[in-house]
Amino acid sequence: MPKSKRAQKYTSGRCDFCGEERPLLWRCRRCGFTVCQVCLSQDQKYFSCNAITWLCPNCLNWETI
Ligand SMILES: [Zn+2]
Ligand SMILES: [Zn+2]
Repeated sequence: MPKSKRAQKYTSGRCDFCGEERPLLWRCRRCGFTVCQVCLSQDQKYFSCNAITWLCPNCLNWETI
Protein backbone atom coordinates (compact mmCIF):
# COMPACT_ATOMS: atom_id res chain seq x y z
CA MET A 1 0.00 0.00 0.00
CA PRO A 2 1.43 3.40 -0.88
CA LYS A 3 1.90 5.26 2.34
CA SER A 4 3.12 8.60 1.18
CA LYS A 5 1.56 10.41 -1.75
CA ARG A 6 3.83 13.40 -1.45
CA ALA A 7 5.26 14.74 -4.67
CA GLN A 8 8.82 13.59 -5.03
CA LYS A 9 11.39 13.84 -7.75
CA TYR A 10 12.05 10.12 -7.67
CA THR A 11 10.33 6.96 -6.55
CA SER A 12 10.42 3.22 -7.13
CA GLY A 13 8.03 0.93 -8.96
CA ARG A 14 7.00 0.47 -12.56
CA CYS A 15 8.37 2.71 -15.26
CA ASP A 16 5.50 4.23 -17.25
CA PHE A 17 7.70 4.30 -20.34
CA CYS A 18 9.09 0.74 -20.58
CA GLY A 19 6.77 -0.99 -18.11
CA GLU A 20 9.64 -2.55 -16.14
CA GLU A 21 9.90 -2.65 -12.37
CA ARG A 22 12.74 -0.38 -11.31
CA PRO A 23 14.30 0.53 -7.98
CA LEU A 24 14.68 4.14 -9.06
CA LEU A 25 12.29 6.14 -11.20
CA TRP A 26 12.19 9.81 -11.96
CA ARG A 27 8.74 11.20 -11.45
CA CYS A 28 7.01 14.14 -13.08
CA ARG A 29 5.62 16.23 -10.28
CA ARG A 30 2.93 17.68 -12.49
CA CYS A 31 1.26 14.53 -13.84
CA GLY A 32 2.96 11.68 -11.97
CA PHE A 33 4.51 10.10 -15.06
CA THR A 34 7.48 7.93 -14.14
CA VAL A 35 10.53 7.05 -16.19
CA CYS A 36 13.52 4.95 -15.22
CA GLN A 37 17.17 5.84 -15.64
CA VAL A 38 17.53 3.20 -18.35
CA CYS A 39 14.89 4.89 -20.49
CA LEU A 40 16.36 8.31 -19.81
CA SER A 41 19.82 7.24 -20.89
CA GLN A 42 18.60 5.18 -23.86
CA ASP A 43 16.24 7.85 -25.18
CA GLN A 44 18.20 10.97 -24.50
CA LYS A 45 16.97 12.54 -27.71
CA TYR A 46 13.39 11.84 -26.77
CA PHE A 47 13.69 13.14 -23.25
CA SER A 48 16.25 15.82 -24.05
CA CYS A 49 18.14 14.53 -21.06
CA ASN A 50 21.26 16.50 -20.29
CA ALA A 51 21.82 15.02 -16.83
CA ILE A 52 20.07 18.01 -15.29
CA THR A 53 16.61 18.09 -16.82
CA TRP A 54 14.20 15.81 -18.65
CA LEU A 55 11.01 16.50 -20.55
CA CYS A 56 7.93 14.63 -19.42
CA PRO A 57 6.47 13.07 -22.61
CA ASN A 58 3.03 13.00 -21.02
CA CYS A 59 2.47 16.66 -20.09
CA LEU A 60 5.58 18.30 -21.61
CA ASN A 61 6.70 19.52 -18.23
CA TRP A 62 10.41 20.07 -17.71
CA GLU A 63 11.63 18.26 -14.62
CA THR A 64 14.99 18.59 -12.97
CA ILE A 65 16.85 15.46 -11.94
ZN1 LIG B 1 11.89 2.58 -18.27
ZN1 LIG C 1 4.24 15.10 -16.62
